[in-house]
Amino acid sequence: MPQSSSLNLDKITDRNLRAVGEKVATGNRLSNQDAELLFSTPDLLGVGMLADYVNRRKHGDIVTFAANQHINPTNVCYLRKTCVFCSFARLPKEEGAYHYTLDQVFAEAETAATGLTKEFHIVGGLDMKAGLQYYSEMFRGLKARYPHVHIKALTAVEIAHIARIDKMSVEDVLRTLHEAGLDTLPGGGAEVFGRGVRMAIADKKLAAEDWIEVHRTAHRLGIRSNCTMLYGHVETIQDRVEHLRMLRDLQDESGGFLAYIPLAYHPDNNELGVELGRQGTATTGFDDLRNLAVARLFLDNFDHIKTHWIMVTPFLSQTSLAFGVNDLEGTVVREKIYHEAGAHTAQGLSLAEILDLIWSAGKIPAERDSFYNILRVFERDAVAA
Ligand code: SF4
Repeated sequence: MPQSSSLNLDKITDRNLRAVGEKVATGNRLSNQDAELLFSTPDLLGVGMLADYVNRRKHGDIVTFAANQHINPTNVCYLRKTCVFCSFARLPKEEGAYHYTLDQVFAEAETAATGLTKEFHIVGGLDMKAGLQYYSEMFRGLKARYPHVHIKALTAVEIAHIARIDKMSVEDVLRTLHEAGLDTLPGGGAEVFGRGVRMAIADKKLAAEDWIEVHRTAHRLGIRSNCTMLYGHVETIQDRVEHLRMLRDLQDESGGFLAYIPLAYHPDNNELGVELGRQGTATTGFDDLRNLAVARLFLDNFDHIKTHWIMVTPFLSQTSLAFGVNDLEGTVVREKIYHEAGAHTAQGLSLAEILDLIWSAGKIPAERDSFYNILRVFERDAVAA
């Protein structure tokens, strides 16, 4: 149950930030300049306090998570040479390239047979052999085997790729996949929308306007989606703010986004990491917390801000629950994409581990479905007893 909480602006040490705090206290929308200040002030605790205030008004002490499983059916991608931040993709004949048959996908999905997994999160490379038929049969097969499991699948970039190789419109691809069982879209592939950044890190990838257009079309068809930003590489503060502004604008227009998830860049095993001399170093905890907190404040029309523990560690994710975050990436089971890029986190977390992370942050864990309806709340004493 959302709680009211008070906001003591005297605790903010940066005077300029206090002026932003007054807007937050009165519920006024923040400007791009406000967001730039949030990204640059040294008073991270002040930013966190404001974000926590807004978050508590929306969600009280509840922190949600989903029992989900990641499946990556193919790492073959024709953009392998041009997305220089990517450690996951391979060319078709390159060592380590794989393309699952449908039976392999169904075998990997078998953990859902326990009834615990409630969502498949399915994304992969832009594989010329992975078109509309492949994914339609995959989703039909998964729904036939596990009708209770929600399918969140295919980034906007993959949807546009299927449209291109199957010579169809994005709208027809989305309609067909929706009929086959796709329920929602994940938020990947957005990277940073700014043209200069895209040219530097993902030259040939779907343009920002086209990424937005795929999500706009999905929302119009009643398919809800998530959105992301990959931060911590070559982007500027202005790039970050402009990216968030574009997401906020689409949310004003369609209301179709479920959650925003900032994604921390990992520099291992990719060209960009070598170019930047960043191999072995990831984003800082300071920046990770700031990205989450700023999102909570600037994206005032989003209900859910989610932390991706695989990228920033479960401990940072736990801390972020006091910085405006109300949703924690779920059980995952077997993560590949960020582990290829040097993530040292576990490939999955058990239910007990997730509950413990949330409880020990003084919050109340609640399992949710993919539309953020709460399925069960875990009171510590009730579970311990
Ligand atoms: S980021 Fe996506 S589109 Fe780019 S190379 Fe990797 S898998 Fe392919």
